[in-house]
Amino acid sequence: MVILHSNGELDQWLAAAPGPVHFVPTMGGLHRGHQQLIRAACGPGARVLVSVFVNPTQFAAGEDFTTYPRHADGDGQKAGAAGADAIWFPAVADIYDDAKAGHAKAGPQLKPSLIRTLCGPCRPGHFEGVLMVMERLLERVRPALVAMGEKDWQQLTVLRHCLPAFYEGRCRLLPVPVVREEDGLPHSSRNSRLSPAQRRQAALLPQALGNAEAAVQGGERRATVLEQLVRAPLESAGLPVDYVQLVNPLTLQPCPHLDGVAMLGVAAHVGPARLLDHKFLLSRKPIIAIDGPAGTGKSTVTRLLAGRLGLLHLDTGAMYRAVAWLMLERQQPIRPDGTLQQLLDAMELRLVWGDHGQQVICINGVDVSDAIRLPRITATVPRVAALPQVRQVLTRQQRAFGQQGGLVSEGRDMGTAVFPQAELKVYLTATAAERARRRAADMTQRGQAPPPLATLEAQIAERDHLDRTRTEAPLRPAEDGVVVATDDISVEQVVDKLEELFRQRVSYEGWPGGHH
Ligand code: AMP
Repeated sequence: MVILHSNGELDQWLAAAPGPVHFVPTMGGLHRGHQQLIRAACGPGARVLVSVFVNPTQFAAGEDFTTYPRHADGDGQKAGAAGADAIWFPAVADIYDDAKAGHAKAGPQLKPSLIRTLCGPCRPGHFEGVLMVMERLLERVRPALVAMGEKDWQQLTVLRHCLPAFYEGRCRLLPVPVVREEDGLPHSSRNSRLSPAQRRQAALLPQALGNAEAAVQGGERRATVLEQLVRAPLESAGLPVDYVQLVNPLTLQPCPHLDGVAMLGVAAHVGPARLLDHKFLLSRKPIIAIDGPAGTGKSTVTRLLAGRLGLLHLDTGAMYRAVAWLMLERQQPIRPDGTLQQLLDAMELRLVWGDHGQQVICINGVDVSDAIRLPRITATVPRVAALPQVRQVLTRQQRAFGQQGGLVSEGRDMGTAVFPQAELKVYLTATAAERARRRAADMTQRGQAPPPLATLEAQIAERDHLDRTRTEAPLRPAEDGVVVATDDISVEQVVDKLEELFRQRVSYEGWPGGHH
């Protein structure tokens, strides 16, 4: 492993080989948490660079800048052991040379709402300093990927939303799960400053967070109660508490009542160290709602995403198709009338999931999973889905699934009408021309002769128009939904993007996923 000091040495190393650089910025005092970041940053064809820089601009007067642990030799050895190709120890002047020369440029803008909670009020200027140093580091290194710890969730969130390289997509921000010591305390460079007695006391942080989690399992939802459950044992042990706060993990706004997923953060002083910890609290399993018109790859994307995250794939379109199948089977007119209500009241619609997470759908005891894909059903389902009585029955059943959560649900009204409480709401789009091309390719693959593209495109536009203008829950993106255009990207890339969006809202510790 190469050891670099000046900017010149860094530039030489960067120029010495082609291929992407994956970057792990640290303040040194490396431990197993940092090593996990380095391992996560390793990838085929990429070189991994670790930086060690105790950034003066992120410490306020009176904080521990001068006493922050510095162990250059140990850092080099640990970085190398974890697989880093180089470790860079810039001097302050290497990073802030322009500031010294008196022409420091303004850094990126912080979003004030992100620093109104948690560490923001306790550490004025801190996140400005973090943002400034990260911008400078990325400018020098120009990495393709930066690995950062979920341990510092607020830092991760601030950088993701305020650093142009990340939000403009020039560089990928890879979040890495918290690495903890045996007693649950997150590894932190500052732990090395604790005496054995203080180190034992520090374990109270994860323990106290565990109390709150137990209370949630017992049905407690009030933030004030959950926060007090963490604060009380710390204060009883004489540890000064900076804050205990329940927040929305994406917006970092206070969350007065737990409904779904929230993050409970704590900062407390143990001897010379200010320590951070957090726990994701879940009142149910996560829900992802995926909406969008036909032909955007929704089903494939939803199935793959559900598999990756260990969630069930709820295909609500199949439920409408099953009702359409039943109505055709019974020669029920497709219009609202009294006999329709009877049919719906007597209908037994059952969903079960096979070994590979695939949804099997049975209506009145008949497995219709295959039959509902027939063209005559496809042609009938938009009119069936527009019937208020049908919508009412199916929406009720879908919401019942939502009480437990643990779903990626796909449909046309998931985020807007059925699961407004979903952690992640996505609206997949693609132009009608692109969807017509996909449809034609699909038909060819199934051995069917596709009609001309213009005809397909017109059919798609017509269907969109019906879905968008229907009075019952028209198709549109949820207000707080994320619109993802799928025109020029592969299905895998769409799934990666959605997984990334999910990880901005739910940490690996909160929902490990992938154990399906
Ligand atoms: P620091 O050196 O404390 O500035 O941390 C450098 C990077 O390591 C940041 O992205 C931290 O979030 C991450 N990190 C620190 N401690 C841990 C840990 N225990 N587990 C995972 N990541 C960590």
